[in-house]
Amino acid sequence: MKRAVYVNCDGLCTDWISAERTPALAALSARGLRCAEHRAIFPSVTRASAAAVATGCRPIRHGLHGNRMGLLEDGRIVVRDAGPPDFRGHMRKALGRTLRVPTMSQRVAKQGGFVAYSNVSPGAAYFLDPDEHGEVRHRAGSYGPGGLVVPPLPVKAGLQGDIAMADLFCDEVLRGRPRAISVMWFGDPDLTMHNAPIGSPAHMAALAQIDELVGKVAATVDALRAKGEDILLIVGSDHGHETVGNGINVTAWLDENGYSALREAGQLGFATQGTATLLYAIGEAERVVQSVLGKLKDEPWVGGIATGVELEQLGIAPEGGLVAGISLARKPEPNDFGVAGQRWAAFNGSEFKGLGFGQHGGWGPDETRPFLIVDHPAGKPARRTERTSLIDIAPTILTFLGLPADDMEGKPIAWG
Ligand SMILES: [Zn+2]
Repeated sequence: MKRAVYVNCDGLCTDWISAERTPALAALSARGLRCAEHRAIFPSVTRASAAAVATGCRPIRHGLHGNRMGLLEDGRIVVRDAGPPDFRGHMRKALGRTLRVPTMSQRVAKQGGFVAYSNVSPGAAYFLDPDEHGEVRHRAGSYGPGGLVVPPLPVKAGLQGDIAMADLFCDEVLRGRPRAISVMWFGDPDLTMHNAPIGSPAHMAALAQIDELVGKVAATVDALRAKGEDILLIVGSDHGHETVGNGINVTAWLDENGYSALREAGQLGFATQGTATLLYAIGEAERVVQSVLGKLKDEPWVGGIATGVELEQLGIAPEGGLVAGISLARKPEPNDFGVAGQRWAAFNGSEFKGLGFGQHGGWGPDETRPFLIVDHPAGKPARRTERTSLIDIAPTILTFLGLPADDMEGKPIAWG
């Protein structure tokens, strides 16, 4: 049986890969296909990215707008966090579905099966397979095909949890019970970068640790290949990070600009996405959208605004009340560790934290450049300079397995 393994190193921008910092990734890159122009989706956040990896489609097709999204509930826009375990329930209630398109897991349910081990938020884990066609293991709760109850992943959030998860994944999945598609999604370096400056010793240590774990997976795959197994190994990330230089309370901004009544009526609201934010407007608020956008254009914290066709080109549909995508402003000044670029980040209420630390979500230069390496013994070492993106992973895997990759936005990456 052919099988494919995808390992995601959350938040790792392609620029950090080098022989000194990440020897295992550099070695894998030297022997495999390095996709040098790999790109994130918009918004460049983990939950919508997990859905993009799972479906081969961007939010415009799969329907999960971001880490938070507005749902129409009883005539109001309710902005909900897609991270907690109960979000899928709210999404089903509001929309009658989770994702709008099939996942890889659904496509291989009767063709060898799917398993994912994830150490990010529950939502980002579950959106790899939200309708439970395969197995998803997470510390907050796990399930098997058809909602079968399986034990929670016995790991804690953080680097120590990633280490434990990698051992379990190699043992239980790769050597133990192979499936056609296996996914492992590390929480780091993303988690460390949200709590430390980019380029700091803490960031470098997390990077080195994740690299070591990738090396462990690659060695396990190599040992299985030596026994005659045909395994495609893909290692990548979902987005990069940029430094938070300032914060904007977008709820307060609405109120200060005279929109508090519309906001309180559930007609107007922002769904924050780190260095980006999505604007929702329904009913009465549709009449003020142009004036809201006009005011936003003049704000120092706004880097760019996309509406209508521009929004569609970014891969997210103006639907369900979504009227605009906003990437927050960037100034070029470096942080204390010489890493260029400082961004505004969007927040609500009193939750703003992480000044000087990493963040992502918009279409800035670093947050949009994750890495991707495709490794198979039949492939020659190569560097691909044509664009690839998260949505190309699923069709590449399905094509390798000899299955149709129809009705996806992404295209299979040729590595042979
Ligand atoms: Zn992420």
